[in-house]
Amino acid sequence: MSLSDYVTTFGQHMQKQHGKRIHKIAINAGFTCPNRDGSKGIGGCTFCNNASFNPAEKKTLSISSQICAGEKVISKRTGAKTYLAYFQAYTNTYAEVDELARQYEQALAHKNICGLSIGTRPDCVPDEVLDLLSHYKQQGHDVWLELGLQSAHDDSLKAVNRGHGFAEYANAIKAAHQYSLPVCTHLILGMPGENFMHMEESLRRVIELGVEGIKLHPMHIVKGTQLAKQWKQGLYKPLSMGDYINIAATLIEQTPEDIIYHRVTGTAQNELLLAPNWCSKKWIVINGIEDELKRRHSYQGKFSLDNLSRQEMH
Ligand code: SF4
Repeated sequence: MSLSDYVTTFGQHMQKQHGKRIHKIAINAGFTCPNRDGSKGIGGCTFCNNASFNPAEKKTLSISSQICAGEKVISKRTGAKTYLAYFQAYTNTYAEVDELARQYEQALAHKNICGLSIGTRPDCVPDEVLDLLSHYKQQGHDVWLELGLQSAHDDSLKAVNRGHGFAEYANAIKAAHQYSLPVCTHLILGMPGENFMHMEESLRRVIELGVEGIKLHPMHIVKGTQLAKQWKQGLYKPLSMGDYINIAATLIEQTPEDIIYHRVTGTAQNELLLAPNWCSKKWIVINGIEDELKRRHSYQGKFSLDNLSRQEMH
């Protein structure tokens, strides 16, 4: 058994759609972020040190070299031969459209790249960008828009200095859908000041807006961030691994089965990670979520609203 026996995973979805394994190759195209340069905010989100998930030295390599390097590692590990270029670091729609097109098309020109996954902020997806992405989709590429929301609660977003609220996310997902672009929303479990009810409510609100994909991440503390200072002062305590596994399993049960989980946990480089240390052990967490769903005789969608109403009809 594997996680995809209980959860609609991205890998399983791509396998079904294309009849082969397709993985994402993470790219750092050297963009910056409007929440750091003053146009939306200064200092960035309190938890963010982008180097923790995307080494800075990568951006000195061309997009093509990053794809070749990623391909080597992933094909050896998984046997995959086809990939999505995942523009991951910072805000990958934060440039003039011509510049974005130049960067995206460098990736699409690579023979083993079948599409794009573009990570960005909800307040940074103007119509021209959506139009460009939908043009690639019409050409037959797989295209995902990955929106960092983290929480649907404005107070929580304010507490981590996101520089946007839930309204911007709601507008962004509606606009993306007008261009027929699927959206994968990133949610963080363990945001400062949040309890399980907040996380459940965030999930419910993104499902209501018709999200097609979700990524769950544990809040983790990395060096060089405001959150690290708060943690050292005892003002923030991260979730335990047991709590994370329990909450993730419960949210997965509540998610309709046609929504694709691109990720159920996240990881950070050991040199930067301060806490919780279990965040560096991605597979232990993934296996823990699988075991928890198995223990509950449960699976994605078992308690989703649409599934419950179907059960009541019988
Ligand atoms: S998490 Fe994203 S939006 Fe926040 S500062 Fe970092 S790159 Fe910018």
